[in-house]
Amino acid sequence: METTFIMIKPDGVQRGLIGDIISRFEKKGFYLKAMKLITVERSFAEKHYADLSSKPFFGGLVEYIVSGPVVAMVWEGKGVVATGRLMIGATKPSESVPGSIRGDYAVEVGRNVIHGSDSVGSAQKEIALWFPEGLSEWRSEMHPWIYEA
Ligand code: UDP
Ligand code: MG
Repeated sequence: METTFIMIKPDGVQRGLIGDIISRFEKKGFYLKAMKLITVERSFAEKHYADLSSKPFFGGLVEYIVSGPVVAMVWEGKGVVATGRLMIGATKPSESVPGSIRGDYAVEVGRNVIHGSDSVGSAQKEIALWFPEGLSEWRSEMHPWIYEA
């Protein structure tokens, strides 16, 4: 099954949104495979967002990510990369539909609460970067109630 990397950004942690966000993924039927609260170094944030290093907002983005603890997670499920992006909403909160996490909780693109991998390939890279220690191997006893055989 597919896995994705989800990070609650420092504003989401400060605003007390951790429980709600985890709850949305849990209730959907995805499985939590790894999780940690961590404040990252500037060099680590730069590595995570390396693809955006030429963008004018890169400096501000790195400042934002290192400004406090984040919650780094790996979630597993069928289509979890694409569905996770839909649950998160569009990059700009002004374009994120109500019902999505950014649509419900964010106003500014530079305070958009959450990150989610944008493809299966970037999920693999991000999971390797954030969780070199590996993931938990488990499957919910509810599995047959969520997935067809
Ligand atoms: N970002 C920003 N200004 C922009 C575009 C992006 O501050 O004009 C920030 C925003 O926090 C976004 C992150 O950079 O979530 C990564 O950008 P990306 O295009 O990868 O958006 P995402 O995949 O997070 O939706
Ligand atoms: Mg992105």
